[in-house]
Amino acid sequence: MGTASDIKLIDENGLRIDGRSPTELRPIKIETDVLDRADGSAFIEWGGNKILVAVYGPREAYPKHTQDIEKAIIKARYNMAAFSVDERKRPGPDRRSIEISKVISEALSNAVMVEQFPRAQIDVFIEVLQADAGTRIAGLTAASVALASAGIPMRDLVVGCAAGKVDGQIVLDLGKEEDNFGEADLPMGILAKSGKVVLMQMDGDLSAEEFDKATELILDAVKRINEIQREALAGKFVSLALERGGE
Ligand code: UDP
Repeated sequence: MGTASDIKLIDENGLRIDGRSPTELRPIKIETDVLDRADGSAFIEWGGNKILVAVYGPREAYPKHTQDIEKAIIKARYNMAAFSVDERKRPGPDRRSIEISKVISEALSNAVMVEQFPRAQIDVFIEVLQADAGTRIAGLTAASVALASAGIPMRDLVVGCAAGKVDGQIVLDLGKEEDNFGEADLPMGILAKSGKVVLMQMDGDLSAEEFDKATELILDAVKRINEIQREALAGKFVSLALERGGE
């Protein structure tokens, strides 16, 4: 969170720097089955973010000592392409990407029926091609769709969404300038049906009251985002049925 008090993020009409209202999400589009060699895949465009997710598995976990005899392990790897941001990002893992990979792996483990696949691993590659703030929640949302598109049994879909504080106001889904110059960002991962929180991080400070307001905005947006996830998956199964019908 930056502190540039001279930058106005909300105008006199209550609109944000990109013209959105405080409760408005950026446009979201999800497509499944974009990669031929992956078991499942998804491409998400969320505002200016463009993220590709490839899922491989379940397959026997390797090296063997990483196996869990009771359940599958989910190995999510979040990676930002060097060209995904304005200032070239040094290729390879860094502390930030290792942290994001870890919290996304844990969030997804709550959604997948991991107990059905002892000793297995499921790889989830999250490749950020264009970053514009909120890549971890967009990546998580797409990863969940990619896992479902691989036919992996799941209890629920995970929806990622963030809210935060800019110019003293609680707003949904921070954009790039809001992320840079705002006061707080609260990314969350929520199981769509149960409402269970499976990822929560916070950058900056919120009062208890502001936190409640932010979670309220997130929970309301989760329904809208889950609808987009389900439409993407429904499209997949409609086209499968058409293919079968044409045989
Ligand atoms: N960012 C960047 N270079 C980096 C890391 C991040 O330009 O090495 C930008 C990128 O647009 C990212 C935003 O900063 O989306 C916010 O990053 P943050 O760590 O808050 O994660 P995110 O909001 O993407 O989950």
